Amino acid sequence: MPTICQNERFCALVGIVVSLRNMPDNHTPAQRHSNMAAIHSASTTPERKLRHALWRQGFRYRVNDKRLPGRPDIVLPKYRTVIFVHGCFWHGHKDCKYYTIPKTNTEFWVAKVARNQERDQEVWRKLEAKGWNTIIVWECQLKKAKLDETVDRVVEEIIKNGEAYRAAQEERRKAREEYRRERKERKEREQSLLEEVKSL
Ligand SMILES: [Zn+2]
Repeated sequence: MPTICQNERFCALVGIVVSLRNMPDNHTPAQRHSNMAAIHSASTTPERKLRHALWRQGFRYRVNDKRLPGRPDIVLPKYRTVIFVHGCFWHGHKDCKYYTIPKTNTEFWVAKVARNQERDQEVWRKLEAKGWNTIIVWECQLKKAKLDETVDRVVEEIIKNGEAYRAAQEERRKAREEYRRERKERKEREQSLLEEVKSL
């Protein structure tokens, strides 16, 4: 399965306790975070690497949000964007050296990966229907040599999604305003007609 630390909350809690004990209170949240990151860097997963890189660039997110389809690894509400970090084997990363079907039980593995891929598609469709943008990051893209390049690409996409989201919000706001204005004008017309009729 994708490597997600199930004890994330616990780790974070331990991190906070340790940080509070050892640090004077003049640390910024970002510094505190990087201290915490150092504390559990022994179990650094690809997902965490991406998360910390985003945090350092100022992005704030929710993790493993159960309220959204597929329980996305990273959720950036402000940018209406979710990120999934996919294991290359389990999700069948095309043309990737980490996706090699085992020689034994081949059919079983092929079917299993295919099911995962179908589920991924389904999740993507559901999220899209709710107006969320989905970014897929493969684990191999978070290996040391490719990390920076991947983070740059993801950041670019997040920002682009955020701009599109705000533009769409602005459109909706304008449409609402227009509707209210028209309704007000209509009422005023009706009112003046009524008054005219009365005065006859
Ligand atoms: Zn891969």
